[in-house]
Amino acid sequence: MILLKCTRCKKRLAIFFRPYSGESLCQHCFITSVEGQVKRIISKYAMFKPDDRIAIAVSGGKDSVALLHILTKIEKQFPAAEVIAITIDEGIKGYRDEAIRIAKENCKILGVEHVICSFKDLYGYTLDEIVKITRDREMGPCSYCGVLRRRALNIASRKVEADKLATAHNLDDEAQTILLNVIHGDVTRIARVEPVLCAEPPLKFIPRVKPICEIPENEVALYAYLLGIKFQSTPCPYIGTALRHEIRQILNRLETRHPGVKFTIIRMAEKIRPMLKKGLTPVELQRCRVCGEPTTGNICKPCEALRKLDFLKY
Ligand code: SF4
Ligand SMILES: [Zn+2]
Ligand SMILES: [Zn+2]
Repeated sequence: MILLKCTRCKKRLAIFFRPYSGESLCQHCFITSVEGQVKRIISKYAMFKPDDRIAIAVSGGKDSVALLHILTKIEKQFPAAEVIAITIDEGIKGYRDEAIRIAKENCKILGVEHVICSFKDLYGYTLDEIVKITRDREMGPCSYCGVLRRRALNIASRKVEADKLATAHNLDDEAQTILLNVIHGDVTRIARVEPVLCAEPPLKFIPRVKPICEIPENEVALYAYLLGIKFQSTPCPYIGTALRHEIRQILNRLETRHPGVKFTIIRMAEKIRPMLKKGLTPVELQRCRVCGEPTTGNICKPCEALRKLDFLKY
């Protein structure tokens, strides 16, 4: 086996080959290149102000824990900025408990304040209870989980008085979401897969940013591994039930044979987004009639989901 020298420093031996750019990188250059890419994404989309209080959604998985480490490092260069970690406990027995422990450990190492917010406290149900009630019906566990988690994150970010909420969606997540929306024929949602999501005040929506949205999942994992960062690797027991899982496998197969496919998908969405927005009636957010949270209809998705649950229970 021939060991290549790093394309960047030309000194150390390469440990990673980046197929879409043709670079071979040593450990040092790989780590600095990932951190540099995150800084570039943050500045490209003007994600933060120097004095922002940033809530980071930390599930305990590799992406969110890596994001926590990277943002904490970057935040040190901005003395007026603050980071705080938020973990949503959906109530998935044997899975989320371990993730919470790992999230806690990482926050302790980094000296970051950690807040946990549970589905049970907010909605009266754990996800496991929801799955029992809704078994074999049209909305799967991931649909409930996604809708309720997004709402929980907004509530928790507001509680900690965050200016922004940073989530760890990586390049793979974004490419999958775009394809999912294509498959569902949901044009409005294709336009809404954005690195920054805002709403006009006085709506109670904390702006969301995705600082690792252009970093491939395998690079986030390698970054965490090389730095010895602890993260949860056991998958969620409900993961196999989602269409997203199938799309993930298809995209990974395509990426191996045609490096750069995932980037092409998000660049395509970036190009057509302004056209889609022009052609579509603008989505106007208003307050949900039940809970007062921001929504596009009269009643928000979480309230609709909870109503359905209350109905199905009996
Ligand atoms: S796989 Fe589905 S149920 Fe599990 S945490 Fe993710 S969205 Fe929730
Ligand atoms: Zn190097
Ligand atoms: Zn509501």
